[in-house]
Amino acid sequence: MRDENGWLPATMQAVRFDSVAGTLTLDEVPTPTPDIDEVVVKIVACGICKSDVNRIDGVVRPRMPVYTPGHEAAGVVAAVGERVVRWAPGDRVVMAAGRPCGECATCRGGAGSDGCTDLRMMAIHYDGAWAEYAVTSATSLVAVPDSLPMEQATVLSGAVSTPYGAIDTARLRPAEAVGVWGLGGLGTHLVQLARVCGASPIIALDTRPAARELALMRGADIALDPANTRLESYIKAITKGRGLDVAFDFVGRARSFSQARTVLGDRGRLVVVGTSLDVDEAGPEFALTRNNQTVVAHTGYRVKHLEDLVELVERGRLDVSASISAVLPLSRVAEGLQRMREYDGNLLRLLLRP
Ligand SMILES: [Zn+2]
Ligand SMILES: [Zn+2]
Repeated sequence: MRDENGWLPATMQAVRFDSVAGTLTLDEVPTPTPDIDEVVVKIVACGICKSDVNRIDGVVRPRMPVYTPGHEAAGVVAAVGERVVRWAPGDRVVMAAGRPCGECATCRGGAGSDGCTDLRMMAIHYDGAWAEYAVTSATSLVAVPDSLPMEQATVLSGAVSTPYGAIDTARLRPAEAVGVWGLGGLGTHLVQLARVCGASPIIALDTRPAARELALMRGADIALDPANTRLESYIKAITKGRGLDVAFDFVGRARSFSQARTVLGDRGRLVVVGTSLDVDEAGPEFALTRNNQTVVAHTGYRVKHLEDLVELVERGRLDVSASISAVLPLSRVAEGLQRMREYDGNLLRLLLRP
């Protein structure tokens, strides 16, 4: 296809997951073309997220029988729809992992992705970006300055934006005491972002020594093993008796939830990040209504968060250069998945390059 926009090949390479057959293949498929409000992005890099692995491994059931995984992508605009004025071919962009439904009340009122109450998710409701090209809504893109490498931009849309969104949900203020349960990719970046936001002290908790070590390097003041029987008194001592102002639970199990709740101070906020919390298991949250405490569930992030992160990286406030473990060609996707399955403790962010 050729138009004033630029040139799109008729077909492209894409990793396709067939959830019925359980197969992952690199296929030649039609290249997407933009609808009036859409943009087609030539992918430069796309992360492999634990959630991609979980769908491929059958831990989480995919919605589409056959689809292209990948939702942490950056690239260059290749073609835009007729009504798109903000983007032009050649623009460097990072893609938000969701797009507005176009039908809810806020969408009809003209709000972008951040207002939509029924956000469609990349690689869940529509094809993702383990491919040479991907299409999304024009409102789901954020510009990437020339000074920011594309690989770092992909990390912002993955393991950095969700913890940043969680910090916003918690309304974290400078000098507040923060505890972070679970130091995977999200939790470790939360430690780093809490430092940027002025949290003090920052207490990182994980059973894995390597994960605790990394959290200390990324800005935690102290790292503790949650299996430690004196945990509660340690945290009280570190916070000078106040307890935590904000606890972030990235583990989402009864144990982490009740530990975090126990060491929460007056007006403390417990933010459970992700959706794995088993509420029955965790017990009645009514206990939290005492002491003006709040429990907030948080998932994902808004486009504004992605814009904030680009600003922080561009000005040198936030450094994510160490957040990329390896860049693999699409043809080595199986190896990438295997490395994700085997990872332990150390932060692992793998990208695929079409
Ligand atoms: Zn992800
Ligand atoms: Zn909507």
